[in-house]
Amino acid sequence: MTTPQYDDQNIFAKILRGEIPCHKIYEDDKTFAFLDVMPKADGHSLVLPKNPSRNILDVAEDDLNAVTATTQKIAKAIMIAFEADGVTVQQNNEPAGGQEVYHLHFHVLPRHEGLPLRPQTGKMADNDLLAGHAEKLREALKSI
Ligand code: 5GP
Repeated sequence: MTTPQYDDQNIFAKILRGEIPCHKIYEDDKTFAFLDVMPKADGHSLVLPKNPSRNILDVAEDDLNAVTATTQKIAKAIMIAFEADGVTVQQNNEPAGGQEVYHLHFHVLPRHEGLPLRPQTGKMADNDLLAGHAEKLREALKSI
């Protein structure tokens, strides 16, 4: 199978262009990070390259390197902000790989001993709750 073309109408492309809101955590010249609106754990974050790529199959190497470096930063911030015992990093590719939004992204999920991830319910989290989580992460990033 060949990887389909990038579609610039995907929801994360719209977030990157500022056309729809998000709870932003971090931004640099190549990457952008914000909270998942349907978190599987409090603090569930998403890290994206700014340049368009559908997933890991078509991303340019320097964008992948940049997004990996930012994923590490967010993972460290999550450990502090959520007093986590660990972090799960997940990255899905194509429908068979569980991908639903077609702009490359890494999930970064705080983990606590004995606590499973929440199932995907399709329900958006409370906006004020997400705002508080984003603030905690931005604060933690200052010490990274
Ligand atoms: P995928 O299955 O493609 O790896 O993950 C897509 C993720 O995007 C899901 O965890 C879903 O909750 C999240 N998501 C979908 N729509 C939006 C949105 O409009 N805003 C945010 N912040 N996250 C979204």
